[in-house]
Amino acid sequence: MMVLTRKMIEIRNILQKVGQSSTLNLPSIVVIGSQSSGKSSVLEAIVGHEFLPKGTNMVTRRPIELTLVNTPDSRSEYGEFPDLGLGKLHDFSSIQRTLTDLNLAVSNAECVSDDPIHLTIYSPNVPDLSLIDLPGYIQVVGQNQPFALKQKITELCDKYIQPPNVILAISAADVDLANSTALRASRRVDPRGERTIGVVTKMDLVDPVRGSQVLSDKQYPLRLGYVGVISRAPSVVGLFKKSGTNLSEHITKNENSFFSQHPLEFGDHSGVNVGTTRLKKKLMTVLEQTMSSSLQSTTDAIQQELEEATYEFKVQYNDRPLSAESYLAESLDGFKHSFKQFTESFGRPEMAELLKNELDQRMLDLLAQRYWNRPIEDLSPARPEPDSLADLPKADPNSLYWHRQLDASISSLTKLGVGRLATTVVANSIQSHVDRLISNSTFVNHPFARQAITEAANTILNERFYSTSDQVENCIKPYKFDIDIESREWTTGRDHASGVLKKELGDCENALKHLETSVGGRRKLREVMNFIDKCRKGDVLVESDGRSGAGGFSAALLTRGREAIFLRDRADIIKIRLLAVKSKQCANMENKYYCPEVFLDAVASKLTSTAVLFLNVELLSEFYYNFPRELDVRLGRHLSEVEIERFAKEDSKIAKHLEVIRRKELLELALDKIQSMRQLEGGREPGAKRD
Ligand code: GDP
Repeated sequence: MMVLTRKMIEIRNILQKVGQSSTLNLPSIVVIGSQSSGKSSVLEAIVGHEFLPKGTNMVTRRPIELTLVNTPDSRSEYGEFPDLGLGKLHDFSSIQRTLTDLNLAVSNAECVSDDPIHLTIYSPNVPDLSLIDLPGYIQVVGQNQPFALKQKITELCDKYIQPPNVILAISAADVDLANSTALRASRRVDPRGERTIGVVTKMDLVDPVRGSQVLSDKQYPLRLGYVGVISRAPSVVGLFKKSGTNLSEHITKNENSFFSQHPLEFGDHSGVNVGTTRLKKKLMTVLEQTMSSSLQSTTDAIQQELEEATYEFKVQYNDRPLSAESYLAESLDGFKHSFKQFTESFGRPEMAELLKNELDQRMLDLLAQRYWNRPIEDLSPARPEPDSLADLPKADPNSLYWHRQLDASISSLTKLGVGRLATTVVANSIQSHVDRLISNSTFVNHPFARQAITEAANTILNERFYSTSDQVENCIKPYKFDIDIESREWTTGRDHASGVLKKELGDCENALKHLETSVGGRRKLREVMNFIDKCRKGDVLVESDGRSGAGGFSAALLTRGREAIFLRDRADIIKIRLLAVKSKQCANMENKYYCPEVFLDAVASKLTSTAVLFLNVELLSEFYYNFPRELDVRLGRHLSEVEIERFAKEDSKIAKHLEVIRRKELLELALDKIQSMRQLEGGREPGAKRD
């Protein structure tokens, strides 16, 4: 049994995953030959299937690193392209198609690429072997081929025929060996013929005596000898396809019938080697021996790479263990922990504040619309004169007009769609809190996780949105018909309303200051404001024609001036209303028609506290319960290994860290395997023959 080769192939596969140069130290059999020498036919005879690209145009443009794995206990035969993830290909014609596509993907201009295609074939009919098929040498450069092509192919082949690889030099029997490009190439790197096996194809095309002479060649002696084969007779192909027998069997039969007709030239006593079966055995033995003698150098190479990986792991990552799974689990735990903290800081009071702020804005809009947008003499003096402040406020409580104004304002407030507004405000706030948690978490560098978390939050909030807003709307329904304010609520409303007005006043004044700076100073703004004031009073005829300026002011400056006047007037009104709210009359609920700000504030507070009760049950608690579970679903148990890996590698630092660990582990595994194999080798009796 070729135990060593099999194990070395395993090691080779491991090292291939590492993607390091050490793979080059593991010997393979490199197949070279000029075009049409029968190279593909020999490989297909070994595999027992047609699977290599065919065509008149040069079709092998990339090296094919072919691994054959003997599976004695299985009847199925299939190929795998480990780099492509296509799975098991049982149909050899699809392997052939894939290889053709991969080769033709190399552009005509480039012609040859040294990026190898990896293909593994599993079959009970193949020996354990590692073969590399290379583009065939060309004799004459074709019309459409670049001149440098010949050189390029030679360079590519030279790279592969270096030690410790075994060279399988294919030459056709009907061409003089002295003209064999394969043998010439091998001679350059293996002048004493130590590691070259000569394969002479098309033995059926030459006279048996001549054929036998070729095989016992004395001019180009090879230590590993020559083998003569008849890999394919054209007439045989159709027959083989019809009969459905295995290609190897057919070739063997064909070879046997040919060679047995000439026992003198090819028989057991002829001293020459013939037949594909013989060739297979030779390849196995030679590869096994080469593997065995390269054990030491391979071990050294792996050890050296392992030392480098270990050093990098220590110096750059402080020997900190990490796996994609543990990284994801830790990140998720950390995120859930910060979410838990957030849930403790965001509850009913916070929701109430959010909603009340929103309703305050609506209230200010309503007041501006119904009370502040007209000459306000009825509510208070037009311009506050210090001695007239005592009269504040003025609205006549017996006038139906003021009753209607207040009723309409209350109705607007209760019917503005508090359910939807409240739900939107809270849902948006939750969403932005989740966004903030993401940006403060390790997930910030992971677009995939960021999206998964955002979608998790969205899904839950969307699911709850309509039922929550309906519930809230239903609960505030009674207030749409009748609203009772208690004196305690009035007092709170009064305090709060004056706070809101003060803040609004502050905002107006800040905006005014901002305008001042933007036009280049207070004086300039005053000038333009005075001008506009005069225009409005009719002292000056034309304010502006809309495009160019008026009164020597630019159009842009006039626009600023108008904004400033709006702000000044609004500030004036708010100041008056602030005085009103603070005045004695407004301390008493009886005078509610004087003090719509206070009344509306009290209504808004009532709406808020009722809405929040239901928001808490319908939205917040539901969210707090479901969100961590939804995270588990999206980022936890349902992710495949590949997805977890992809997730972790989104962060380049983590990707590097994982890569070092992976490399180290694979090298350790390879080293372990090779060392146990060496122990096995050491245990063998000296001089014992492997076959
Ligand atoms: P490659 O270009 O070196 O891969 O050569 P192929 O394997 O494609 O073979 C070139 C041609 O020679 C094809 O038409 C094969 O059918 C034919 N051929 C290959 N081996 C033999 C053989 O042993 N005997 C005969 N008569 N023809 C062969």
